[in-house]
Amino acid sequence: TKKVLVIGGVAGGATFASQLRMLDEEAEIIVFEKDGTMSFANCGMPYYLGGFVEKREHLIAATPESFQEKKKIEVRIRHEVIRINRSEKTVTIKDHIKDVTYDESYDKLVYSPGAVPVVPDIKHLDRGNCYSLRSFKDMLKLDEHITKRNYQSVCLVGGGFIGLEMAENMKARGMKVHLVQRSSHVLNLLEPDFSQVLEKELIDHDVDLHLSATVEQINEDRSLKLSDGTEIEADFLLLAVGIKPNKHLAEAAGLSIGITGGVRVNEYMQTDDPDIYAIGDVIESFDFITGKPKQVPLAWVAHREAYVAARHITDDPVAFKGILGTAICKVFEQSAAVVGHSGSSLRKMEIPFETAELTSKQHAGYYPGASSLSLMVHFCPDSGTIYGAQAVGQGADKRIDVISTAINGGLSVLDLQTLEIAYAPPYSAPKDPVNMIGYKAVKKMNKKK
Ligand code: FAD
Repeated sequence: TKKVLVIGGVAGGATFASQLRMLDEEAEIIVFEKDGTMSFANCGMPYYLGGFVEKREHLIAATPESFQEKKKIEVRIRHEVIRINRSEKTVTIKDHIKDVTYDESYDKLVYSPGAVPVVPDIKHLDRGNCYSLRSFKDMLKLDEHITKRNYQSVCLVGGGFIGLEMAENMKARGMKVHLVQRSSHVLNLLEPDFSQVLEKELIDHDVDLHLSATVEQINEDRSLKLSDGTEIEADFLLLAVGIKPNKHLAEAAGLSIGITGGVRVNEYMQTDDPDIYAIGDVIESFDFITGKPKQVPLAWVAHREAYVAARHITDDPVAFKGILGTAICKVFEQSAAVVGHSGSSLRKMEIPFETAELTSKQHAGYYPGASSLSLMVHFCPDSGTIYGAQAVGQGADKRIDVISTAINGGLSVLDLQTLEIAYAPPYSAPKDPVNMIGYKAVKKMNKKK
């Protein structure tokens, strides 16, 4: 039997261990998790903090006991791997419970230690109450402080997915919310017009938006000085300006790091040591469309990579097809979703493209609750290859998922006409916005020779 060790017991690591067990009943599997909680829903943390998820336990999908009992997988929590010893094929572990250090041998090692939040460059950061949100511990600490210290206001630093979700959730908790975003629009992978829809939604819900600004320093009286000269007050700061791969063990073990800063792997998730696999936020993967190196720290990616690694370890390989970066974010009543490349990313890569776009209702206009949905698709005007799409408004999820499926299946933008999409008035129109994009694209295609 194979002995497989896993570093990290959350999205990538726990999923990998489960998948491996499904494919191999015999393997000895041990998961090391440095924190006290395994297999929790990182993605649910903002919603717990906002009170939408009632109990913290609801975010925990499995425990070491349930893994042992149901899957015969051993999970050692509060066990931190501190070194990978490639030549001996062992790892060195610090057991934080007993305060001892020991080695464990492996046949295969799977590395899924996630990422660490980037700390922005703010003068006198130590003067403020600063938090980030990555681990279960982070969430519990913030929750406790909000209550015990009676925080009434927050400055969210960063207008990406986490900053935006936290805006809604901190409002739901009755706070005064400032959101400070360095670039001129929130969620800067969106087209500017689409970001503006989210910005209006934030302002309509009384969020104080500070665009093209950073927090420059925390003043002595703990007020915040922004780079545009504004001074604001906030009881605490949530730092959500991005993450970087938690790659130090891999680096120290001499594994290659890719140009995007993640651990380099092949399409089976093997690092350049064939007995060491890496998955999740820590790796550099590749783009589904261009094949170029790409890093996308999202849950779907970690789950798929976990499966791919498990298949390879059981000698039944299936190659990873690459990442489209399909993602979605809810901002109060609005949703924004993306798949593939934006116009600016295509321009940067100097890939010529055409765009079809429309704004319509997400479902029949006469049915209650009809609201505006905007959809934009970028494609190659010669071949019709779809490069990317974005949508904002209710129903963005359905349209982007359909287009993601179309890209995955190799359909062209004109094929979008032919997709038979479920319709009744509360859901869509006889001709769905996705179909409409297909019809609109005809005019933008280069004439056939
Ligand atoms: P993680 O799930 O972070 O797991 C890594 C684990 O490894 C950690 O528990 C860590 O303690 C442990 N570890 C690290 N080093 C060691 C070591 N040396 N020894 C032992 N253990 C170690 N993605 C989406 O797709 N949709 C969302 O809505 C979404 N929302 C999110 C909201 C928040 C607040 C956060 C933080 C993330 C969100 N994500 C979302 C991203 C998603 O959670 C990650 O992409 C995913 O968790 C990555 O899985 P991973 O296994 O690489 O890392």
